[in-house]
Amino acid sequence: MPLPPPESVQALARALRDSMAAGESAPVQRAGDALLAALADFYEVPVPSLRVLGVRPHKVTAGVCTYQLFGDYTPATQRIRVWMRTAIRAKVSSPKALLNTLLHEFCHHLDIARLKLPQSYHTRGFFWRIDHLYHLSIATRAEARRPLHWIKRGSVWMIDWRRLRA
Ligand SMILES: [Zn+2]
Repeated sequence: MPLPPPESVQALARALRDSMAAGESAPVQRAGDALLAALADFYEVPVPSLRVLGVRPHKVTAGVCTYQLFGDYTPATQRIRVWMRTAIRAKVSSPKALLNTLLHEFCHHLDIARLKLPQSYHTRGFFWRIDHLYHLSIATRAEARRPLHWIKRGSVWMIDWRRLRA
């Protein structure tokens, strides 16, 4: 996948990070819109719409948070939603988590709008595309990047996050 010029994407990612400091959604919305507009321009796809929302939808089972939604993408409307506050404690999300979520949903948009795929799946290639865009955005030095490790659950490949964080 071609990657956009780093300087502009990195500046927009920094602006997104800074926009979260006040804990308000309007500045985050503006910064997210600007980043999506630049990416959409580079990849020559329509700009997806964005809604920045509050506390992540989540499920609590026996007092333990078993599920929370960071973001989603609706192909029919080309709309991305991201939630900027954590489940349970409703704290402002880490800027890197929000950026990663935004890029994740944008990659779903690319599958549909650029690659013209009928569906967008969490394939290994999909996660590689997010990973490249993410590290480009936060200017990770090449030697500091960790390779993605994969585990297979049934027919689905998933990233082994424990090994990535270890
Ligand atoms: Zn996804």
